[in-house]
Amino acid sequence: MIVNNTLFYYGQMLKKNYNKGNAMEETYYQRNREKILEKQKQYEKENYNSNKRHDRYIKDQKNKAQQTRVRREIFPNKVRLEQKEYYKNNKLSIKRKRREDREMFKEKYRARDILQSAIRSGKLTRPQICQKCLLSVKVQGHHKDYSKPLEVEWLCKKCHMQLHHLKII
Ligand SMILES: [Zn+2]
Ligand SMILES: [Zn+2]
Repeated sequence: MIVNNTLFYYGQMLKKNYNKGNAMEETYYQRNREKILEKQKQYEKENYNSNKRHDRYIKDQKNKAQQTRVRREIFPNKVRLEQKEYYKNNKLSIKRKRREDREMFKEKYRARDILQSAIRSGKLTRPQICQKCLLSVKVQGHHKDYSKPLEVEWLCKKCHMQLHHLKII
């Protein structure tokens, strides 16, 4: 009975405080209504724009990648030349980006290098089929754990990209 009473009073106290809190919020809102609404509007505007910009950016990137894929199929030589030209003109920034990537994903590149040299030296053989879809195509090694460079899952390009949530359109 004592316990029940205590709980009852505790509940009452919470309710009172809750109402008090609500009342305080209410008055704060009344007093600063204009400011709050203005801030809300501003926030929505900014985020709406940035979300939209981001969506557009992703869409553009996807479209570009798709266009290159299609063009490469139709004019393989032309696209190869263009890419060569692009590399020549942007050599420095491409190299810098690559260096930054290597720095940022040290573990990943280390694992990749070790795997490559194991294949080259014949210590490891690259299988001919994808372990996931069982198609017999060129496969890539996917590391689940970069600290175990020789433990890889062999996947075709499509399955590998799907695994990294980069679906091919
Ligand atoms: Zn596959
Ligand atoms: Zn992978």
